[in-house]
Amino acid sequence: MAFQGSEGMNVTSVTENEKTSQSTAVDSSDAVPLFGAPLDLGFTQLKNRSVMGSMHTGLEEHWKGYKKLAEFYRERARGGVAMIVTGGVSPTFSGRLSVFASQLSSAWQVRKHRDLVDAVHEYDTKICLQILHAGRYAYHPFAVAPTAIKSPISRFTPKALSHRQIKKIIAAFTSTALLAKRAGYDGVEVMGSEGYLINQFVCINTNQRDDDWGGSFENRIRFSLEIIRSIRRAVGESFIIIYRQSLLDLHESGSSWSEVIYHAEQVKAAGATLISSGIGWHEVRIPTIASVVPEAAFSWVTKRLKQSVDIPLITSNRINSPELAERCLQNGDADMISMARPLLADGEFVNKALNGQSQQINRCIACNQGCLDRVFEGRRATCLVNPRAAYELDYPMARAETRKTVIIVGLGVAGLSCAYYAALRGHSVIAYEAGSPGGQFNLAADIPGKAVYRDTVRYFETQLVAMKVDIHTGKKLGIEDVRDSFADAIVFATGVTPRMPDIPGIEHFSVMDYETAIKNRSVIKDKVAIIGAGGIGFDVAELLLNEDESREDWYKKWGIDTEYAHRGGVLPESMASGTSQQDVSYGSGKRKIYLLQRKDEKPGKRLAKTTGWIRRLSLRRAGVEMMQNVSYEKIDDFGLHIRYQGEQLTLAVDNVIICAGQQSNDSLYRQLQALGRSVYVIGGAKKAAELDAETAIRDGLELAYRL
Ligand code: NAP
Ligand code: SF4
Repeated sequence: MAFQGSEGMNVTSVTENEKTSQSTAVDSSDAVPLFGAPLDLGFTQLKNRSVMGSMHTGLEEHWKGYKKLAEFYRERARGGVAMIVTGGVSPTFSGRLSVFASQLSSAWQVRKHRDLVDAVHEYDTKICLQILHAGRYAYHPFAVAPTAIKSPISRFTPKALSHRQIKKIIAAFTSTALLAKRAGYDGVEVMGSEGYLINQFVCINTNQRDDDWGGSFENRIRFSLEIIRSIRRAVGESFIIIYRQSLLDLHESGSSWSEVIYHAEQVKAAGATLISSGIGWHEVRIPTIASVVPEAAFSWVTKRLKQSVDIPLITSNRINSPELAERCLQNGDADMISMARPLLADGEFVNKALNGQSQQINRCIACNQGCLDRVFEGRRATCLVNPRAAYELDYPMARAETRKTVIIVGLGVAGLSCAYYAALRGHSVIAYEAGSPGGQFNLAADIPGKAVYRDTVRYFETQLVAMKVDIHTGKKLGIEDVRDSFADAIVFATGVTPRMPDIPGIEHFSVMDYETAIKNRSVIKDKVAIIGAGGIGFDVAELLLNEDESREDWYKKWGIDTEYAHRGGVLPESMASGTSQQDVSYGSGKRKIYLLQRKDEKPGKRLAKTTGWIRRLSLRRAGVEMMQNVSYEKIDDFGLHIRYQGEQLTLAVDNVIICAGQQSNDSLYRQLQALGRSVYVIGGAKKAAELDAETAIRDGLELAYRL
């Protein structure tokens, strides 16, 4: 098969492409009338019900980072969001999350904020500075707290604050708010949740003082109220004060429901304009934003508060589509919807939502890999599905100088991304896919909590069609198809195949690779050994145990008390279904599963920082037996024979599922390279070991900008 030329390919300029993507096929998604309605705050109006929630990008601490940050926020403001809340900025040195974290406490620091604010104000968008004092979460020896009790997530024991120091911190919050006003911010958000300093004052386990700042609930909330009152006095009436209140602490020493209501009433009386819902403490082992969390899983608690207090409320957590946002508003859950990660994934989210183009939105898949995991590693945040996020100046929306004809072989996420960005840059793109686009994402979408991965594939496909990329599916190319191609560049994004380890009996009928297992899971029996405890081994175990988990099962499994009959909104251990090692009664967790690896380290140790603990805990609670330092001897009719802790064991299992990594499909690339052609390879075809989707999609972007 010879390649066709690029005639007929309608490659337009980037600006035209952008117009195309916004104006083609207004899809049939539901209208979002409430989401688009303005909100009157008395002294000012917000143009719709969207808030970009606080998201630390890491640019805040970079040399010249504010220029990049300004561009990052400018794109989001241009995309239609009504109000942006910045990443947390400390009012004092002791309150910094780490020694090098950002602080706003001097007049000379105002200038760089002004650039950022001006960028946002080019559009009719408000911007508020989040003021965050880390308290005992500070990861440095200068940490302070109401009481000198170490948190489980920092190795530094904080010093207990004196009365004088507390007063100084209140003054520092006020001074930061004044500096924010001077920089042009429309308001501030006072961070009072997630277990940071203010929240530490509110809860008994972290506040054991016996002075005016501890003891009774009135005393414990005095700190938050004095901060709000003091800021309001200083900034005047026409300045937004959002108070982020912990509505659900998710630990047993948290506030009771009546205390939450009382606190909210006092926050309003102290002068706050809006209350934003905070859910959970960072140290609590209950997931609140990961992909396993059901959509809008916590808007019920905002709704509860809305029935008791008269102040505009913002809800958040796992709301990632216009339909869901609209449903929350229609349901009376809140007055505004906060979305941080969804706006990282697509800066145009709000405009697309308001124009009825929901299908054109690049949806956040709640993976945390590109954003929070990177921030925890001290790297700049971006987004797995949108690697331009926070890199807008590095990858400007500009045409390539020379238009090239680019052939892309393979439309997994690496190929889709490369095709998308290459077309966006004005190149003439022809794409080939042997099956259907999506690759490993199509498999991942079957894992509990990951159905949204299908939307990523849908998004890229929709964009490619809108940009008239020439897509051919259902044909596996051979060397004769590409050898004589006249394309300027041929990109191989041919992906991976599961690795089958060399174990005697690997061809036994009970053995299958993970791809076959995911696609044919209904034939898998009750006793299963999984060889390989990487991301995919964990995924497969989760699928086999919790595929049918209902929303109610999920709340129960994690001990969340949706009746709010107990402090902190958590069920006592005896009532939660996931707390006992033996308890496998929730969901369809009836299988016996062994998860095995050869390395002598805790299985799942290398999983991502922000989600690994959830996946380990979830499987442990379902009774999965995790074994390390295992060697595989053979597989036969009796099961899987292993050597474990010096002994020979036979695991009498019905199925053995191989999740032992992958091998690159790079033979066509190598053949063509040997012929001296201009060829490129990206994604899993380039490097299967430790490949993840974030690298694959970024590979596609980077190559498209190099072509
Ligand atoms: P992986 O994370 O590299 O894990 C492969 C597993 O197979 C390891 O446990 C390894 O442990 C074992 N293994 C390797 N070679 C073997 C051999 N020859 N014989 C027996 N066992 C062998 O790969 P993966 O699980 O396939 O995941 C692929 C990529 O996707 C990874 O980067 C992963 O992080 C990513 N991913 C991420 C998620 C997520 O939710 N974030 C989910 C799925 C996948 P031993 O060598 O110790 O036996
Ligand atoms: Fe969402 Fe993942 Fe992107 Fe973070 S990296 S914004 S969680 S899609």
